Amino acid sequence: MDYKRIDAALGAASDTHHLLIGTGVLNDVGNVLEEAFGQQPAVVVADDNTYAVAGKAVDDRLRSAGWTIEEPLVFPGTPPLYASFENVLALEEKLRTTSAVPIVVGSGTLNDITKLAAYRAGRQYMCVSTAASVDGYTAFGAAITRDGFKQTMSCPAPRAVVADLDILATAPASMNSSGYGDLLGKVTAGADWILADALEIELIEKHAWSLVQDSLRDWTGRPQAVHAGDRQTIENLFEGLIMSGIAMQISSSSRPASGSEHRFSHLWEMQALAHGHEPVPHGFKVAVGTLAAAALYERVLARDLTKLDGDALCRAWPSREEVRHSVQQGHSIPKLAENAVEESLAKYITPDQLRQRLMRIQERWPIIRKRLERQLMTVEHIRDLLRAAGCPTEPAEIGVSVAQLRESYTLARTIRSRYTVLDLVNECGILDACVDELFAPGGYWAAIAHP
Ligand SMILES: [Zn+2]
Repeated sequence: MDYKRIDAALGAASDTHHLLIGTGVLNDVGNVLEEAFGQQPAVVVADDNTYAVAGKAVDDRLRSAGWTIEEPLVFPGTPPLYASFENVLALEEKLRTTSAVPIVVGSGTLNDITKLAAYRAGRQYMCVSTAASVDGYTAFGAAITRDGFKQTMSCPAPRAVVADLDILATAPASMNSSGYGDLLGKVTAGADWILADALEIELIEKHAWSLVQDSLRDWTGRPQAVHAGDRQTIENLFEGLIMSGIAMQISSSSRPASGSEHRFSHLWEMQALAHGHEPVPHGFKVAVGTLAAAALYERVLARDLTKLDGDALCRAWPSREEVRHSVQQGHSIPKLAENAVEESLAKYITPDQLRQRLMRIQERWPIIRKRLERQLMTVEHIRDLLRAAGCPTEPAEIGVSVAQLRESYTLARTIRSRYTVLDLVNECGILDACVDELFAPGGYWAAIAHP
């Protein structure tokens, strides 16, 4: 773990100023609490599972050290807790009955619920992580589903984070595998930021970029060891996830850590929710989303985008009304359709703006291609890494059908205004051709399309 770099990152972070990662550090939870919040009363937030794993220990330690501790707020452990707005409101109501500092003991879902509930109740909070499962611990904003639509709601990251490696390393293997999937997704997230930067849509912020990307290949280089629960590897994985979160704090945006792979993931999550399907860990959906995005990038890089027919593309470009109509028709879930229309129109460009965009793409393509090639890995390499880490690599493993995956290449673009490779292929008029190639014999998804 690179403590110097972590300290420098914390120095630039807006919210998180105390971070303690190490073996047995659960014993120091009182010290961290005192440094971050003084002698304020506190309350443990957990679910039945995380309360048993570490919540009770935190509660006992603080009580016996003489802290004023409210009765713990414990969600049921089954069915698995969902990061819904209803759960945020329920927790907020309980928090409002006291002035205690929430100490959430858990992983992604509990942390997101507490992050937003604490903010709404007008206070900051502390997090005791129980698995290296997501990058959301130190991220700005909480990924919450409201009325069936998943969105990042603005709220500050925790003031303090404690992660005991004894606990992370003994978390269920699938949770750390999920964190690996979320972290490896930064490969395509980075590629998407390169595109947005090169086309002057969203410039790269150097510090945030370097926190996520500089050590990405080291953090993700030993996938078998993640699955085996190797402590050093889990520590590296956790460092990567924490740094990704801090990068999002520094940018006040999830851009440094979330691109097209997360659009696939969020789309599938909302579809599964609407159809009452079993929830799948976030990083598992991101894993398959990363493959979907990386496979698309390969089809894009196989083309010469300096040779686009700008006139024909501008003539065929849809009007705002046509976009509204096609996005509305594309989604079968009404609330999702409504939000997707809003997001799609927020990034709508006119035919004139498209002409400018295409000129820029053509002009800069040789440089963009080089930057993308340096950033990306082959889709087969990504698949092998994910497999070794215990992540799913086929859509069926996360409850997504072949037809749904294919359709997702069109729909994933519509659910967020953020510019990614999905927008690039749409603007260049190559989306359908690329997707056809991916599912045709010899294409990356051929094996699942023609079993
Ligand atoms: Zn993620």
